[in-house]
Amino acid sequence: MAIAPGAAGEPVRYTLRAGERRLGLNACLGQPLTLAWTGAIACTHCGRATKKSFAQGYCYPCFKKLAQCDTCIVKPETCHFFAGTCREPEWAERHCFQPHVIYLANASGLKVGITRGTQVPTRWLDQGAVQALPILEVDTRQQSGFVEMLFKEEVSDRTNWRAMLKGDTVDMDLPAERDRLLARLGSGLANLRERFGTEAIRQLDAAPAAFEYPVLEYPTKVASHNLDKTPEISGTLLGLKGQYLILDSGVINLRKYTGYEVVVS
Ligand SMILES: [Zn+2]
Repeated sequence: MAIAPGAAGEPVRYTLRAGERRLGLNACLGQPLTLAWTGAIACTHCGRATKKSFAQGYCYPCFKKLAQCDTCIVKPETCHFFAGTCREPEWAERHCFQPHVIYLANASGLKVGITRGTQVPTRWLDQGAVQALPILEVDTRQQSGFVEMLFKEEVSDRTNWRAMLKGDTVDMDLPAERDRLLARLGSGLANLRERFGTEAIRQLDAAPAAFEYPVLEYPTKVASHNLDKTPEISGTLLGLKGQYLILDSGVINLRKYTGYEVVVS
């Protein structure tokens, strides 16, 4: 599923990609939708058929071999590139040794997150953030991990997806939160700058971003569909937020089923 910001004043745009087919989901709001999994899963990296999906879309050999499936991607502060044990040093040069952004977002309350500079704003839309603000930029993924660890002393790095899907998020003053956190974490940031160089951790002066999602109706009780247990699900499409389709019969996180061969009708 591709998620892109809408035009000015328009909600976020969702496009379902199934093979060569592209289906604009915004236009399906209020209509019946059926997703039927054929039982096939193709690895999103090598295309091989796999019985089970690992790390949301990979076959087992890719899951064990690719740097993008290594635990240091989820915990960048554990980067082991300099120990000479990176699974794919060339991939790391292109993806980890690139500017990363530390941001504040509001999807279910205040959270901190990190992403490669080029993944803004995709990452925020994936999380269903209604507001986001980039606050710092660093030179590498590992450095962003250290900065995030510091921020986690004060603010969560998690989204409560049930709260996000209930849509009862309260607007926040993210620039004020940024200023509060930067002041509180000043000495910790000074330590990191001492370690990586003054210029390695740069404060950003960005404007906050806000996003509106195409949702007709939020669920009062969030029940989720599971294609592994129930291969065919259907319902009226009530909304799209984060990686989720909101149907009147329950919600489904499509990211979880990356690589699944699904027939949409
Ligand atoms: Zn594979």
